[in-house]
Amino acid sequence: LTVLTTADVTAWIRRADELISDHADELTALDAAIGDADHGANMKRGLAAAVEALAAQPETPAAVLKKTAMALISKVGGAAGPLYGTFFLRMSTACAGKESIDAAALAEAVGAGIGGIVQRGNAEAGDKTMIDAWNPALEALRAGAAAPGSALAAAVDAAAAAADAGRAATEPMLAKKGRASYLGERSIGHIDPGASSTALIVLALADVVSG
Ligand code: ADP
Ligand code: MG
Ligand code: MG
Repeated sequence: LTVLTTADVTAWIRRADELISDHADELTALDAAIGDADHGANMKRGLAAAVEALAAQPETPAAVLKKTAMALISKVGGAAGPLYGTFFLRMSTACAGKESIDAAALAEAVGAGIGGIVQRGNAEAGDKTMIDAWNPALEALRAGAAAPGSALAAAVDAAAAAADAGRAATEPMLAKKGRASYLGERSIGHIDPGASSTALIVLALADVVSG
C-alpha cells in the first residue's frame, strides 16, 4: 500500500483487535507485576467494542478513527482508556476531510494523537509509559515520510520496529506516571504494559500495510 484508505484503517483496527486479543494474557501479566492486572482485559474489551462499532461501516478514515476512539473511551476504562481514546480522536481530527492517508499525513496524525496523550497524562519520554513506544514510532514515521519516495510501507515497518524497541527499553525505567509509579524503585525491571499494547497497535498497522 502507498496510502491508507477507509478500508485500510478499518483493517488496522481489526488487526489490532486480533493482536491485542492474542496477547491479552501477556499484557495482563505485565500489569500484574507493576499495576492492577487488568490491562489485557481492558484493551481486549475496548478493541472488541471498536470492531463492533466499525460494523456500521464509517465512510472516511476520520470516521473510522472517531468510532474507534469512542469505543475505547467508553469500554477500556482505567488510565489507558481515556489516553488511547484521546489518541484516536486527535488522529481522527487530523485526518478530517481526507479520503486517504499517505506517509506524511500518517506522521502528522500520529503526532497529533501523541500530543493528546501528553496533554491528558503529562508523561515525558522515559517515564515508563506508552509514550516510550509512541515517540520512537513517530520519529520513524517522520523519517520515513521525509525519505525520498516517502514510502508508506517502509515508514510503517520502521515505526513498528521502533515501537517494539521502545517497549523493550521501558524495562529498566523507573515509573513516573500511572499506577506503576506507586511502586517507586520496585517498578524497575518490568516492561510497561501500555508500551506493550502500543507496540502491538503499531505492529497491526505494519501487518495491514505490508499485507
Ligand atoms: P490502570 O493503570 O488504570 O489499571 P491500564 O492498566 O489499562 O490502566 O493501563 C496502564 C498503562 O497506562 C500503563 O502501562 C501506561 O503505559 C499507561 N499510562 C498510565 N498513566 C499514563 C500517563 N499519565 N501517560 C501515558 N500513559 C500512561
Ligand atoms: Mg491496570
Ligand atoms: Mg485498572
